Amino acid sequence: MLIDLHTHSRASDGTQSPGDVMRSAKAAGLDVVGLTDHDSAAGWDEAAAAARDVGVELVPGMEISTKLYGSGVHLLAYLPDPNYPALVDELTKILAGRTGRLAAMIGQLRDAGVDITEEEVLDQVGGSPAIGRPHIADVLVAKGVVGDRTQAFAEWLNWGRPGYVTRYATRTDAMIAIVTAAGGAAVIAHPWGRGSRHVLDKDTFAELRERGLVGIEVDHQDHDDHDRDDLRRIAEELDLVITGASDYHGTGKVDHDLGCNVTSPAEYERLLARAAENAARARRPVAEVVR
Ligand SMILES: [Zn+2]
Ligand SMILES: [Zn+2]
Repeated sequence: MLIDLHTHSRASDGTQSPGDVMRSAKAAGLDVVGLTDHDSAAGWDEAAAAARDVGVELVPGMEISTKLYGSGVHLLAYLPDPNYPALVDELTKILAGRTGRLAAMIGQLRDAGVDITEEEVLDQVGGSPAIGRPHIADVLVAKGVVGDRTQAFAEWLNWGRPGYVTRYATRTDAMIAIVTAAGGAAVIAHPWGRGSRHVLDKDTFAELRERGLVGIEVDHQDHDDHDRDDLRRIAEELDLVITGASDYHGTGKVDHDLGCNVTSPAEYERLLARAAENAARARRPVAEVVR
């Protein structure tokens, strides 16, 4: 049984429609796939229809931008009620921050000698509600400024580079509490991937668990074997669920093919059990696995 719990569609910065992600998941031999677009549940309905159609199990989720001690931390939220008011409020602020950030980033890039327009970025966005740096990266690639998205981030868009602009993000511990109250299960995505390693040690994971954290995404392309061993040990000691996933973005991210990392069936069952506990405590209609 192959379980991949972290993928992106055009509802954020992936390159395929939500339905096509489900069809690709089936073609890749996956049994269970999590759709986790950034800060949005916009792809859920289309994905659910396609998942039923092709016969793949869909776990609706999202990957929420949070911050902890000044560092960006991505939080995977599985099966929350997407209409839970506190969650809707925070996602609205996060998405508004992304959009407002666009003009500021374009201005800074122009000051640094790279001329791109808002229209060019919006052309890349398509129907996505989550305008983000990957879309600007795609414009930089299309204009030949850089060779690929990775280079665009490294040279222009990451923290400390000319195009970087800070934006609104909820505190990680507060968002974990919101996701839990919304009946969902919160899992830290690629914790040691992008400059957030120093804020996510065992003591911090223990504190976040007190706020409701359910799991850690251990098996991810951002982690080498040594990181995975250390994170697995921390998760076991804290009784947190261990997940693994591809972080698939279609053609938007190389070396993140569907199923390149997977979650074990036993850990998947634990994740669903924890989500069910939170849903029962929340006493509200939550998202359900599509089978
Ligand atoms: Zn992420
Ligand atoms: Zn992701």
